[in-house]
Amino acid sequence: MVGGTGKKKVVPITSPLPIVEVNPNNHKDVVPIEAPIISSYNDRIRPLLDTVDRLRNLNVMREGIQLPTIVVVGDQSSGKSSVLESLAGISLPRGQGICTRVPLVMRLQRSSSPEPEIWLEYSDKVVPTDEEHIAEAICAATDVIAGSGKGVSDAPLTLHVKKVGVPDLTMVDLPGITRVPVNGQPENIYEQISGMIMKYIEPNESIILNVLSATVDFTTCESIRMSRQVDKTGERTLAVVTKADMAPEGLLQKVTADDVSIGLGYVCVRNRIGEETYEEARTQEELLFRTHPMLSLIDDDIVGIPVLAHKLMLIQATMIARCLPEIVRKINQKMETAVLELSKLPMVMASSGEALMALMDIIGSAKESLLRILIQGDFSEYPGDQKMHCTARLADMLSQFSDNLQAKPKENVTEFLMDEIKILEECKCVGLPNFIPRSAFLAILSQHVDDIQVKPVEFIKKIWDYIEVVLSSVITKYSDNLPQIQSSIKRAGRNLISKIKEQSVERVIQIVEMEKLTDYTCNPEYMTTWTQKTSEQQSFIAAVLNNGINKSEQFSLTGFGNVKISHLRRYHDHLLQQAFDMKMRITSYWTIVLRRIVDNIALYLQLSVKYLVNSHFQKEIVAEMVDPRAGGGIERMLEESPSVASKREKLKNSIKLLKESKDAVAAIVDQNSGYGDR
Ligand code: GDP
Ligand code: MG
Repeated sequence: MVGGTGKKKVVPITSPLPIVEVNPNNHKDVVPIEAPIISSYNDRIRPLLDTVDRLRNLNVMREGIQLPTIVVVGDQSSGKSSVLESLAGISLPRGQGICTRVPLVMRLQRSSSPEPEIWLEYSDKVVPTDEEHIAEAICAATDVIAGSGKGVSDAPLTLHVKKVGVPDLTMVDLPGITRVPVNGQPENIYEQISGMIMKYIEPNESIILNVLSATVDFTTCESIRMSRQVDKTGERTLAVVTKADMAPEGLLQKVTADDVSIGLGYVCVRNRIGEETYEEARTQEELLFRTHPMLSLIDDDIVGIPVLAHKLMLIQATMIARCLPEIVRKINQKMETAVLELSKLPMVMASSGEALMALMDIIGSAKESLLRILIQGDFSEYPGDQKMHCTARLADMLSQFSDNLQAKPKENVTEFLMDEIKILEECKCVGLPNFIPRSAFLAILSQHVDDIQVKPVEFIKKIWDYIEVVLSSVITKYSDNLPQIQSSIKRAGRNLISKIKEQSVERVIQIVEMEKLTDYTCNPEYMTTWTQKTSEQQSFIAAVLNNGINKSEQFSLTGFGNVKISHLRRYHDHLLQQAFDMKMRITSYWTIVLRRIVDNIALYLQLSVKYLVNSHFQKEIVAEMVDPRAGGGIERMLEESPSVASKREKLKNSIKLLKESKDAVAAIVDQNSGYGDR
């Protein structure tokens, strides 16, 4: 426990009022100025306080880092402001009703200059004031912050008091808790105030200074109820009992019984009454606790403002030492996050030369990435993203296309040979019957080609749609920190793909069209299959021509299954021979045609992907970026959007602040490592 220094009254060097000097013959022991506590204070505690003060000055709270803070809570009129007043040796707005309407951060700083320095800080304003006008200045500032009515606000007001003899303490005075709204107060005043108090006392870094009036039953205090919600064991709660003069009876029992579990103990005080000066008030307080028949029974260790000041300083120092390592950790963590975020912000270019270089960088990296995924099949950049494993996906799509194209159309068994017969009848000519007119063959070939023509076109479109998605995500990835031109580059990518798509479709139509023009192959497989298939010709014709009693309706033909033949009986022997022959030729040839289409498209696809990556991609983007009609892309790289600029500014400030904070704590943490564990 801090502050426990036996039965002797300890007067801190920073006591707002040097009681000892006014009563030099005081019967109580007084710690001399050279006491060990003082040198220890100067050596160890003062630097800690300075550090936290610097952090507070730097406003690290803005970065979400909690600093150890003494928070003054108490029911309305319990004497909060009076206690602060006594500690600071100044007068604060005091009295019945709601006086404190905004969080008042009081920074008391001991100074050696005889002239006190007092100023207020709120919403970026600094208002100098003096001892006589503090109360007025606070009321005026409160009116500005929370309006001139009786409403409250959680925007803080900071009061700096630099003065000889004040303790080094930073405390926050909060509005007192009112159950019932008074005239002109909002209905939810209780919720507003208790919410504000909770926000301040909740962090584990906060020390709760619970101000209790001796005139009330502590167990009924709203402020006790609240502080116990966030600090059950009371380990960071200290109680100040005010108005000891008004209810001296039973005070000793109250503080010794500790019905409300206050871990850091009680200090009983008597504040300034009426128009007393601070000096008078301290003298009266000292006198009261020394001479009053009941109050003098209370341990000296727990009475008087000087004791309170001393205790608070020690508690504050211990808390600071304990919290510093965590503060350092948080500062580092916040700084890392901010640095990372800053590095992710869009770049700013200083000149068009620099912009051009950045652009070439983007193009170069995107191109390399495309080369790897579209051509080389190196997916190390996108290990988990199957969509980006392009060579494999293209192969998948191609084999699917090939299967789909070569899937045998269901042979119309009832109409077997009829297509051939119809065409042959139209291509009749004067000639020998066992020659198939070439025109007839080309006509049937053309019919076959027409049937499948849409498939290759659809396939190539699908391929380029896929490549467009891939291209777009590669572009996005590499141009992410240049949002000014990202859309231009993306547009260039889209234009490029649609051009290539158009070309490819034309080319594929050509590849298919070529098959209609000439029936040619050097593939010997054609002759082999045709020979095999024609071997059944004679038995097939015989079956068709057999019109006797054992004539059959069907014929089992290798590669075609059971085909119907009865409908063929009315045709002439020669025509049937020709039709059968033609069917076998086209069937053998068609297999070769389909494979040739797949092969051609596959090779063409590889070639156009290579062109895309190796030359078109770069050309198209550069063309788009230097095209004055497209809005001068390069110039746009020199601009920065206001939102990004302000974010950059904010991050830079944060980093600067965190760096300063880090420096501020670094030294002290080394010196004090382990202090807080004592
Ligand atoms: P707050 O609302 O908690 O800030 O309470 P104030 O500090 O404004 O005090 C409320 C009233 O109690 C004022 O009139 C003070 O003068 C009075 N008061 C505060 N402390 C003492 C004390 O120790 N003794 C006496 N007699 N009156 C006190
Ligand atoms: Mg007050």
